[in-house]
Amino acid sequence: MNSASNTNGSNGNGAAVTDLDALVIGAGIAGLYQLYRLREAGLSVKSVDAASDVGGTWYWNRYPGARVDSQSYIYQYWFSRELCEDWDWSERFPAQPEAERYLHYVTERCDLRKDIIFDTRVTSAVYDEAAKKWLIGTDTGRTFRAKYFVSCAGMLSSPLLTRFAGQDRFKGEVYYTAQWPKKEVTYAGKRVGVIGTGATGIQVIQTIAPLAGHLTVFQRTPQYIIPMRNPLLQDEDRKRYRGEFDTLKTRIRETFAGFDYDFGDKGYDDLTPQERREHMEKIWADGSLSFWLTTFPEMFFVESVNNEVSDFVREKMRSRIDDPALAEKLLPTTYGFGTHRVPLESQYLEAFNRDNVDLVDVSDNAIDGLTETGVRTADGTVCDLDMLILATGFDAGTGSLTRMGIRGRDGRALKDEWSKDIRSMLGMQVHGYPNLFMTAAPLAPSAAFCNMTTCLQQQVDWITDCIVHMQRNGIDTMEPTREAEEEWVRHHDETANATLVTKTHSWYMGSNVKGKQRRLLSYIGGANRYHERCDQIARDGYPGFALS
Ligand code: NAP
Repeated sequence: MNSASNTNGSNGNGAAVTDLDALVIGAGIAGLYQLYRLREAGLSVKSVDAASDVGGTWYWNRYPGARVDSQSYIYQYWFSRELCEDWDWSERFPAQPEAERYLHYVTERCDLRKDIIFDTRVTSAVYDEAAKKWLIGTDTGRTFRAKYFVSCAGMLSSPLLTRFAGQDRFKGEVYYTAQWPKKEVTYAGKRVGVIGTGATGIQVIQTIAPLAGHLTVFQRTPQYIIPMRNPLLQDEDRKRYRGEFDTLKTRIRETFAGFDYDFGDKGYDDLTPQERREHMEKIWADGSLSFWLTTFPEMFFVESVNNEVSDFVREKMRSRIDDPALAEKLLPTTYGFGTHRVPLESQYLEAFNRDNVDLVDVSDNAIDGLTETGVRTADGTVCDLDMLILATGFDAGTGSLTRMGIRGRDGRALKDEWSKDIRSMLGMQVHGYPNLFMTAAPLAPSAAFCNMTTCLQQQVDWITDCIVHMQRNGIDTMEPTREAEEEWVRHHDETANATLVTKTHSWYMGSNVKGKQRRLLSYIGGANRYHERCDQIARDGYPGFALS
């Protein structure tokens, strides 16, 4: 197999260029595994990451309360039983430091660090048609030339670093959750404000409520939530999941959302009202995302079913809030349960029962800026603060790729094309960008409707198989045909538009970013069906892709 890694040539400006078979962007869950797989396949490969260390999401999102909400024993790599044997998860849903430590552990065990270049952000990636290679520039001045350009930059890695009018004048501390500092941040005696009540904001709020002098939560849209049941794992638990390694590895590829649980055999109409209630109570008690992803498939399509589940969740939520007027503000009513990401929480609603926590509803009274002393809303009220925490979300799916300056055949720019029409083939390639492979990109199940580790490993495996196939068969380029891509986009849209999810405002639909096309970013036809389709395409010799 071809293998070349050297610094020999220049980028036309006299700067040295490093020649590689493949350059991987990212050193998070997908990037680490992609680096490992391509290196094992005999390619010369490096990974670059803007961070100073490995971890991806778990490097950047070190905000208070950050926690995994997939069960630890399935939030892991499956390529090595030894890795599983030698790692002890301490909780069912581990906190950020443990997830980060796990990725360090895998990095050291697989000796990946020597092939990762940190503190380096890709600023341009241009396809050289004559050479059939990608020329990739970075903010450190280092340039790479590679046949394969593999983005493992993440679905939720481009934070919306919202800046409010007058923000520079604010004299207090300001923190963005997705760029949380490594230094210790203290809350005692301080008046803290949090903007954003998505999964991130909720984890922050429930964690710092008991620590802050006073906490003010600025809420624009309330969330449906599920209480997390998070026992410490005992040796017998670890023994059990290790014993089930092979079963779980297979199982997660066969379920709708890449977890070990799935929808039952009986649909909504097969159950009496009492059985439905018992069914919901039982799954609710599991304290996991299974209440969202296994209760009734009809919940995603049929408004009356969705209303019943939404009522159930609102009832559960209401019973935890002391003040009925406050409950009305905290209960979502403008959209249906599960039509966007449902956060797992611990004592989130109880935080609002505390004397030191206030909720400011900004749905009709928007934040219109910051003053020297705090946050001003449209009615002119200023809430004085010592610290402001922004948990305002991400430019999901497209953001990490459009910020990289990617140019394909004939000088086309991905940023321009996706600003009009977000398209891809299986979320892994785009017509016009040969040998650009992507994980966690738009129109695949990752992030929104799939346990991330399941879908990322499946995509890395598929991409690796493509690349090995090309290497073995002397193929220079691979890209989807326009027609095959069109067919995938049509299938994706048809599947999405049959659900209630497309009626909701959230990052799932891109509607949290001004001017972004409204299209469901993740494939909702099932991770299992998606995996089967990818496997079939590989087995059939990649129909729908031009190989030359
Ligand atoms: P998000 O769900 O997009 O939430 C952003 C929040 O900021 C929303 O409440 C939004 O309100 C609010 N917001 C934005 N601009 C605002 C403004 N100008 N004024 C007032 N409010 C404003 O982002 P996220 O919470 O970071 O979560 C993103 C995704 O990351 C999650 O859905 C999940 O997939 C993932 N995540 C996972 C975990 C985990 O696994 N443990 C934890 C955290 C996050 P509107 O809704 O009204 O726009």
